[in-house]
Amino acid sequence: MAYRIDSWLEYKKLVYAEQHTGGSRWSLIGAAHGTTVVGDTLSIKVFQAVAASLFMAPQRRIILSDSGNFPTDLYMVEGLMKLRDVGYTLRTPAPEDVLGQITDEVATVMVTEVDYRTGRKHDMQAIISKAHSVGATVVWDLAHSIGALPVDLEGTDADFAVGCTYKFLNAGPGAPAFIYVAPRLLDTVQPALSGWFGHEAPFAFDLDFRPMPGKIDRMRVGTPSIAAFSLLDAALNVWKEVDMEDVRSTSIELSEAFIHAVEASCPSLTLASPRDPNKRGSHVAFEFEHGYECMQALIAHGVIGDFRSPNIMRFGITPLFINLDDIEQAVMILKDILETKSWSKPEFQSRALVT
Ligand SMILES: *Cc1c(COP(=O)(O)O)cnc(C)c1O
Repeated sequence: MAYRIDSWLEYKKLVYAEQHTGGSRWSLIGAAHGTTVVGDTLSIKVFQAVAASLFMAPQRRIILSDSGNFPTDLYMVEGLMKLRDVGYTLRTPAPEDVLGQITDEVATVMVTEVDYRTGRKHDMQAIISKAHSVGATVVWDLAHSIGALPVDLEGTDADFAVGCTYKFLNAGPGAPAFIYVAPRLLDTVQPALSGWFGHEAPFAFDLDFRPMPGKIDRMRVGTPSIAAFSLLDAALNVWKEVDMEDVRSTSIELSEAFIHAVEASCPSLTLASPRDPNKRGSHVAFEFEHGYECMQALIAHGVIGDFRSPNIMRFGITPLFINLDDIEQAVMILKDILETKSWSKPEFQSRALVT
């Protein structure tokens, strides 16, 4: 399939993710028409969403996240707290304690639905309902959810959500991120990163910023990366035909098979993901003392997972292009690496910057 970009103004076709899917709703995340825009990187979108949610609770000073969140999300909040130096505190309890810590002191809850290391999944509806009952908003990071499991932002009455398109959506390294804002907030949401693309009339070149009224467009920042958008367009074409319920059930089937096979044949590995498939996303993690070296050996044999410090071997279960035979083969290769200790070869020892 050939992709042609006639001019950078073509961005109009690309900037709304739902237009790729041809429907009025971005069904991958259950987002109503006109609630999601694509652009920038996920770190930027986290900053935007948390800043916007803090504006909504100007008297409150607690930002609640959890200790399993991806560091950049926490770092972006740290930077934001320094910028708005009014005495914010960022709390990072254990993931299972988040729900209990949602009180009326909390301005915003910022959590990643699926933990990047263990795959543990938060109960989205429970967290949103509790936050709303005490007047707080929630920012969801869907980095490990979109394309991995069904998400229903509208149905759960989510406030804000962000995510990237280069994990389970396969739009390529550095593919653009997205931000979702609930329709009920679109009139009032304040874009802290007020770039010209979020202006009511970008090409009027006014000296003052006026956010695009009532539209998600106000969360755009600057000139989008059209080359990256064309890759995203190609990736999303694949997802047009995909039913997320099918993806989810196959993902669970493959993950269960993987866990059982690894536990039966690789006793030195310990499951780090929840055992209950309903409490996991679509990746499975095992702990192993020599996880880094073992993952390098696996990659050398064509089984591509990754390593997350301190000892986690992470395997993405992606039903669109792996099946039960692949799972079986991967476990055979893993078993062999462990039995022969081939992970201890010198070529698997040196640590790269990117793991
Ligand atoms: C992958 C990931 C990121 C990465 O952010 P970038 O700005 O795209 O590098 C951020 N947050 C979470 C939860 C992630 O899983």
